[in-house]
Amino acid sequence: MCCTSWQENEKNDDECYICKSEDGELVMCDDCPRSFHQKCHLPHVDDAILKDDRQWMCTFCVYQTTQECRCNDEVEMETAVSRQISQHMLECQYLLLCLCRADEKRTFASDPCLSLDRYSTVIQTPMWLGNIADKLQEKEYQTVGEFVSDVQLIFTNCASYNRDNPEFLAMGDRLKELFNSEFKKVFNIREQSDNLILTDEPSILAPLQQCCRIRRSTLLCLRLLSLPSFRLSDIMRESLAQDPLAGVAPLLSEPHLSALDRRLGTVLRVVQTCQEQNSDVIYNDLEGYNDTTA
Ligand SMILES: [Zn+2]
Ligand SMILES: [Zn+2]
Repeated sequence: MCCTSWQENEKNDDECYICKSEDGELVMCDDCPRSFHQKCHLPHVDDAILKDDRQWMCTFCVYQTTQECRCNDEVEMETAVSRQISQHMLECQYLLLCLCRADEKRTFASDPCLSLDRYSTVIQTPMWLGNIADKLQEKEYQTVGEFVSDVQLIFTNCASYNRDNPEFLAMGDRLKELFNSEFKKVFNIREQSDNLILTDEPSILAPLQQCCRIRRSTLLCLRLLSLPSFRLSDIMRESLAQDPLAGVAPLLSEPHLSALDRRLGTVLRVVQTCQEQNSDVIYNDLEGYNDTTA
């Protein structure tokens, strides 16, 4: 019944399928030639499986063999991202393993603050694949959308930190395309609705980019809403909770709320770029403000 070409008497790979290193003990899949370090695989492989001769199947094989059993109805992106992650752990683990494997130079594997100069002064919320793997392993995500927005954060961070570094920009774009296309396949996303939530339409920023003028009061307000203690999504969530329908049909789901934060970040980055290129970006409408409040 099985149509894989790999036979039991064939040998497994000598290197880890994810990090490509040969060092350390590897767990071997009984259904395919792939080998993994216990902690490179998701979910992490138990010591017990290493010690005895128990049969073990990697996430790639489990994903493939269970594909037929999964519901095959096409869904909208919004439906997919609002689902409970507990029902879709295998799909998310599979997607993340695909990304880790594709990140050949391990560029996005670990905390960028540890290896890149002044990273935390440029990027507000650093994110990396290892961190997402830990959060999946520790079951810290509630919805598929929370997982997706952490993955997307890696790509938006990459795009803004590497604005002048085409090599890294291209690496981020390649991984982003891979994720978006795999995500659509895995969750069977209806065409047309694609990218509605995963990526933002940037043309709306054109007036801001061309004009490069913003009121100081507006900018201060936007900056305030990007601080962790006054986060726009938190304020919206709190405010919408007062709505009588909040419990039954929330107006904005978690992916919508995180999209607000992401877009606010994009707007602030555009303003910052304007400021780097022009001197009269900020129109000071708060002159004398201090005097009147004194
Ligand atoms: Zn490994
Ligand atoms: Zn396998």
